Amino acid sequence: MTTEPIRAGVIGWPVGHSRSPRIHGHWLGELGINGIYDRFAVPPDRIDAFLAEFEKSGLKGANVTIPYKENAFRALDVVHPAAKALGAANTLWLEDGMLHGDNTDGAGFIANLDQNITEFSELSGSALVLGAGGAARAVIHALKERGFGPIHVANRTVAKAEAIAESFGGEILPMEWNNEAIQRIISDPTLSLLVHTTSLGMKGQPPLELGISGLDPRVVVTDLIYAPLETDLIKQAKQQGNPAVGGLGMLIHQAVPGFERWFGARPVPDEALTGLLVADLEKS
Ligand code: NAP
Repeated sequence: MTTEPIRAGVIGWPVGHSRSPRIHGHWLGELGINGIYDRFAVPPDRIDAFLAEFEKSGLKGANVTIPYKENAFRALDVVHPAAKALGAANTLWLEDGMLHGDNTDGAGFIANLDQNITEFSELSGSALVLGAGGAARAVIHALKERGFGPIHVANRTVAKAEAIAESFGGEILPMEWNNEAIQRIISDPTLSLLVHTTSLGMKGQPPLELGISGLDPRVVVTDLIYAPLETDLIKQAKQQGNPAVGGLGMLIHQAVPGFERWFGARPVPDEALTGLLVADLEKS
């Protein structure tokens, strides 16, 4: 008797760039699970109907990527805590006919640092987050949960940093995207962590022009960008002896909870998967 494969996928517009099929496909093969993970490019005029009738899709669950994480949040029957805090869902699953959703970006961000930075779990104190987009919201929420504070948030559109401070409360300090002000925080001896979350420095985007020579050598530096694998920021941090890690590990770790929900086994991120993704990124 043949059993039907469990089906999941990633929903977005466009969705061709998504690395998620590579990640989940690798784990399905490695764990010998009868499952399929596809891409679903859903146009903007159909996304709300698609999500409202998710059960009809035949999917056990899905990842949701740009620009639909807020649409997904609004379609949920059961909202899990990180999605509730962020107003956006990137991981959906059906349970007893109800659409559940959570946001795993923040947990993926922290897991990447825990895995790659020695004693990151012991770290607290002040953080500087550059950027206030969707990814920054997830990062700031996760840092706040981990006990970091104050969290300085610099953004070109300062109103977005202010909105984050207002919605999360606590010690979140919005600031202008201004080199002088940023340099003041960079050379503050109480700083523990520098996080870059804008698209500057990504392949095809303008560079992030930021001097970090004023950082104390113990400050941890991380960049959410994974294409290129090592941004100029990460290269510079490593050269001057700061502990530093790029964004590929976050991409991998944020995928773990969804896989477990849909396919019933918890994958362990390993060198083999990192190697596959690095090879893909080097080709593209
Ligand atoms: P988003 O919501 O569109 O936010 C983009 C951010 O970049 C905003 O803060 C924006 O500032 C800033 N920005 C864009 N162009 C700029 C410029 N020319 N000068 C100054 N600031 C500029 O995007 P997102 O989803 O947060 O993603 C941001 C980055 O994180 C992307 O590179 C993405 O690939 C990466 N990311 C990585 C992972 C991972 O798993 N590693 C996960 C999510 C995202 P304004 O608000 O002023 O426009």
